[in-house]
Amino acid sequence: MFNNLSEKLDKALHVLKGHGSITEVNVAETLKEVRRALLDADVNFKIAKDFTKRVKEKAIGQNVLTTLQPGQLMVKIVKDELTELMGGDAAGINLSGKPTIILMSGLQGSGKTTFSGKLANYLKNKKTKKPLLVACDVYRPAAIDQLHVVGDQINVEVYSDKGNNDPVAIAQAGIAHAKQHGHNVVIIDTAGRLAVDEAMMTEIANIHKAIEPQETLFVVDSMTGQDAVNTAKAFNDILNFDGVILTKLDGDTRGGAAISIKSVVNKPIKFIGTGEKMEAIDVFYPSRMADRILG
Ligand code: GDP
Repeated sequence: MFNNLSEKLDKALHVLKGHGSITEVNVAETLKEVRRALLDADVNFKIAKDFTKRVKEKAIGQNVLTTLQPGQLMVKIVKDELTELMGGDAAGINLSGKPTIILMSGLQGSGKTTFSGKLANYLKNKKTKKPLLVACDVYRPAAIDQLHVVGDQINVEVYSDKGNNDPVAIAQAGIAHAKQHGHNVVIIDTAGRLAVDEAMMTEIANIHKAIEPQETLFVVDSMTGQDAVNTAKAFNDILNFDGVILTKLDGDTRGGAAISIKSVVNKPIKFIGTGEKMEAIDVFYPSRMADRILG
């Protein structure tokens, strides 16, 4: 995960990690390298620039050069800032509803259906949760079948209504079904398109308004870098969503989305997807991710 970024940051911080004397000049050089590494990882220019600016200010504020181990302190400042950039503390998921309604949003191919299954499985394993999956993609019958396949794999019931082309009505009927049959979590998988368009946005906004979910989650493919961030912005403008799901972190992703998304939409990354299997889901911990990136 983020191998290239890790390597470049390691190289950038190498001088500081060593025991040579550390001067203002090599701190400035290091920060330049850090910024370059972030840009190479597809982090937005302004975010990368602000990041190194904050690190520099902190370093000056803490009189880094006069401390006993300036290099280590600098590395710690970079790590802390990276953690903060990715969200600070881990964000939980609100399961207070009766039933809890979770709406999944995102582009086609982002991993919504797969993640809906992973989340259902994750919650089911908590024992107190009995999830229901609801298939609201009325355009692609294959998408409904796919959710059934996922449901069968994890032994979670799937509500669908093939032939009904009103996603709001299906979502509402799914919730009613959940109430009747004792499901305390309803995960609603919706239709995505290949790019942001008005019809998709109107549809998801209508579903959102009708069902008032406790959690609206935006699913995004981490391989798409700055595009992921732009798509997040478009969805957040319409839905004011509660959290981001970053998928395909097992792939050869450069890391830009993971690093930038929180500061652009000001919403936490809640979970990550790390593979195609139902078990490949992890809670997102910004500090662990920063540890991983900085090695
Ligand atoms: P949807 O159109 O948003 O519902 O996306 P899907 O759930 O159908 O996922 C699209 C493709 O990405 C499928 O082939 C999934 O198996 C794959 N996929 C989803 N999540 C992950 C992940 O975390 N890692 C990897 N490697 N593949 C994933």
